[in-house]
Amino acid sequence: MTMPNNLEISRSASLKPLAEVADGMGIGAHLLEPYGRAAAKVSLEAIAELADRPRAKYVVVSSVTPTPLGAGKTTTSVGLGQAFGHIGKRAVIALRQPSMGPTFGIKGGAAGGGYSQVVPMEALNLHLTGDMHAVTAAHNLLAAMIDNHLHKGNALSINPHAITWRRVLDVNDRDLRQIVTGLGGKADGTPRQGGFDITAASEVMALLALSTSLQDLRERLGRIVIGYDVDGKPVTAEQLKAAGAMCVILLEALKPNLMQTVENTPVLIHCGPFGNIATGNSSIIADLIGIHAGDYLVTEAGFGADMGAERFFNIKCRNSGLTPDAAVLVVTVRDLKTHSGKYRVVAGKPLPEEMLAESPDDVTAGASNLRKQIANIREHGIEPVVAINAFPSDFASEHQSILDIAAEESVRAAVCTHVPDGGKGAIDLARAVVEACDQQNTFTTLYEDALPLVEKIETVARRIYGADGIDLSPLAERQLADYERNGFGNLPVCIAKTHLSLSSDPSKKGAPTGWRLPVREVRASVGAGFIYPICGDMRTMPGLSSAPAAERIDIDDNGEIVGLA
Ligand code: ADP
Ligand code: MG
Repeated sequence: MTMPNNLEISRSASLKPLAEVADGMGIGAHLLEPYGRAAAKVSLEAIAELADRPRAKYVVVSSVTPTPLGAGKTTTSVGLGQAFGHIGKRAVIALRQPSMGPTFGIKGGAAGGGYSQVVPMEALNLHLTGDMHAVTAAHNLLAAMIDNHLHKGNALSINPHAITWRRVLDVNDRDLRQIVTGLGGKADGTPRQGGFDITAASEVMALLALSTSLQDLRERLGRIVIGYDVDGKPVTAEQLKAAGAMCVILLEALKPNLMQTVENTPVLIHCGPFGNIATGNSSIIADLIGIHAGDYLVTEAGFGADMGAERFFNIKCRNSGLTPDAAVLVVTVRDLKTHSGKYRVVAGKPLPEEMLAESPDDVTAGASNLRKQIANIREHGIEPVVAINAFPSDFASEHQSILDIAAEESVRAAVCTHVPDGGKGAIDLARAVVEACDQQNTFTTLYEDALPLVEKIETVARRIYGADGIDLSPLAERQLADYERNGFGNLPVCIAKTHLSLSSDPSKKGAPTGWRLPVREVRASVGAGFIYPICGDMRTMPGLSSAPAAERIDIDDNGEIVGLA
C-alpha cells in the first residue's frame, strides 16, 4: 500500500482549536493571538506566567553528517514529540520556520513528513504569520538608511567600500547576488556594489532567534555592525539611528507561532536562521516558553552534530542559559552507506540503485561518522540517543549493524518508523530518551568566553571536526586581530563550513583525519553575537534548478494548492 503524500496527510489531519492545544501547555487564551485557524502567536508574557511551572527535560535533535537528502531530523523531532504522548508524557516541539525560497526551489515544502509532520503544511510553508517578511523589511530598512546616510552627506564618515550590510529577499534569485545600486542621476543615490542574500541568511534572523527578550532584541539590533568608517572603526545600526525602527518592525515577529502536529502535539515554530553561516537553530524565546509548557521540550538543530548541535550547545545555550538533558542523533542506513565512501548521493537525484541492495557491511563501513558524532555530543557532557530513521528500502540486517555500533559505544538506540506510523513508531526512542534524560549529565560548553577567537576556532576544529589544526589566510588573520581590537573577542564562533563532511571538503566521508581547516575569511555578526569564519565556498543566496518546485506548484479546479509536497 502506498502512503498518501505529505499534503494529502496534512489535509486529512483533524486539527484541534489552538486554544485547546495551548491549554494543554498551561498557556491561557489571554496569551494567544490567533492568526486564523493554522497558527497563533504566543505573547512573551507567557515566559513570566509559566515560570513557576516545572521545568521540562530539554532534548536537542541532531544527526550524523547527512547526505544532501537530509537524515530526517525534522520528521524525528515531530515523531518523538508525538511518541511522548503515547507513553503518557506531554511534549512541546520547537522548530525553525521553513524559508519560502527553498519551498519554490528544490524542496517543495518542509514540515516533517508522512504521519510526523506539522500541519497545516500550506500555512507553515507559505508566509505563516509574516515573520519572514518582517525580517526582510527590518533588514532592508537598515540598508536604505545606510545609503540615505551616504547620500545626505555621510556624517559618520562611513567608508562606502567597507559596508558589509547587504540586502535580503526570501526568493532564490542568483542574479541578485552581486548588484550595483544607486545608478541614475545625482538624486538617485550613491552608486556602489551591493547584493542580496536570502532572508534566512540575514543577521536580523540570527539575532531574532538568539534574543531572550524584547529589550535584548532592541540592544542586539543596536549592536549590528554595518561596516567601517574611514578610520576602520565599526559603525553600528545604533549610530545610524535605525535600531529602534527595526525593533518596531519586529515586534510581532519576536512572538513564537503555535501550531500542531497531525497528532495535535503542540509545536512552536519560530525563526529560521541559515545552518551554514548562522546557528541553524530555532529561537530562544520559543524554548523559554516551551521549557515550562510540558514534560519534554524537543528542538531540532540543523545539519549534523558537528554543526547545528555544536552551535546549539556553544551559541544558543550560552545565550539562553538553558541546559540540555539529552541529545538525539538521527541516522539512516543511506547516511552510513554514504560514509562507507562507496556511493555518491546527489541533491535532487534518486539514490544510486546499487545503494538499495541489502548490505549491512556497507553500513558498518560508514560507522566512523556515527562514532565521531556520538563523541561530539559527549564532548559537551550530554548523553546521545541514536534514532535509526527507517526507510521502506532498508533491511533489518542493516538496522542491526547500526544497533551494534551503538552498543559498542554504549549508547541507547531505537529503530523508528514515525513517518509511516506516527508517534507510535517512535515509542522505543521516547523511552530511551526518558532514560537518557534521567541519567546524570554535566553539560559544559566547549570553551570560555574569554578564550581568544583563534583558539576558539582551533578548539572546535580539533575537538569536533577532528582536524589537526587550522590554517588562517593573511586576510583572516588580520580580520581576527581587528575583531579582538574592536572588543568582539569574547563572542563565540560559528564556523561556516560544508555540512556534508566533518571536514571542510564535502567529498570526504566518514571521520576524516590528517587534515587542517583552512580559514579564508572571517566575518562578524556582532548584533547576533557571533564571529563566523568562512571555510570553503558559502552560498548565501541560492539559485533555482533547471526544474524548480515552483513549476509544479499551482492551484487545482477547486482552488486548492497542488505540488507543495
Ligand atoms: P532533516 O530535518 O534532517 O533535513 P527531514 O526530516 O526534513 O530531514 O527529512 C528530509 C526528507 O526526507 C523529507 O522530505 C522527509 O519527508 C523525508 N523523510 C524523512 N524521514 C523519512 C522516512 N523515514 N521515510 C520516508 N521519507 C522520509
Ligand atoms: Mg530539518
